[in-house]
Amino acid sequence: KAKYLTKVTDLNKVLLEDVINEGDTVIDATMGNGYDTKYLAQKVGENGVVYSFDVQEEAIKSTKKRLEKENLLNRVNLILDGHENIDAYVKNEVSCVLFNLGYLPRAKHQIITKSDTTLQAIKKSLNLLKPHGVISIAIYTGHEGGMDECNAVFDYASKLDQSNFNVLNCNFVNQVNNPPRLILIEKKKEY
Ligand code: SAM
Repeated sequence: KAKYLTKVTDLNKVLLEDVINEGDTVIDATMGNGYDTKYLAQKVGENGVVYSFDVQEEAIKSTKKRLEKENLLNRVNLILDGHENIDAYVKNEVSCVLFNLGYLPRAKHQIITKSDTTLQAIKKSLNLLKPHGVISIAIYTGHEGGMDECNAVFDYASKLDQSNFNVLNCNFVNQVNNPPRLILIEKKKEY
């Protein structure tokens, strides 16, 4: 049964279905418990490469376990560093960069993504994207600082030049309790 008008992660998968192909290089900018990394690893197949970033050891441990169970670890680089340093690790063009902002569920809620580093990472990701590659940003606003981060991302994305980028903003307009938002940025061409 389709859930993609309920859960932001399911909607994302529908929108990215044809963006990520076997053999691609892709980035999970916010690894967390590794659900998105697992999805990316499956999508790129055995010849693809995933770079996953998080600032918490717990995220690396939890993701490693998840990937080992599925025999997917061989195609994933688990990096204990902030996504603002993405360009120090990724040198190839990528077809997709996923951001799932906010805090790691069940872990310390004070370790959250922050507007300034999130924007740095988005800017660097735009440089790494190949034409028709997509940056997908799932944004949560219910925690402290979440709405500021959301506004910062929205402001930045909405000012991107239309001749170089397509930007889509998805809102669940009748969901109660701070529904997540999803912003997708597609690079149209080399610039
Ligand atoms: N995508 C994850 C999943 O599938 O489980 C959930 C991500 S969780 C909402 C956000 C994650 O961003 C947290 O694990 C947090 O530690 C991480 N984070 C916070 N600041 C970061 C930064 N500067 N660079 C990379 N990750 C960061």
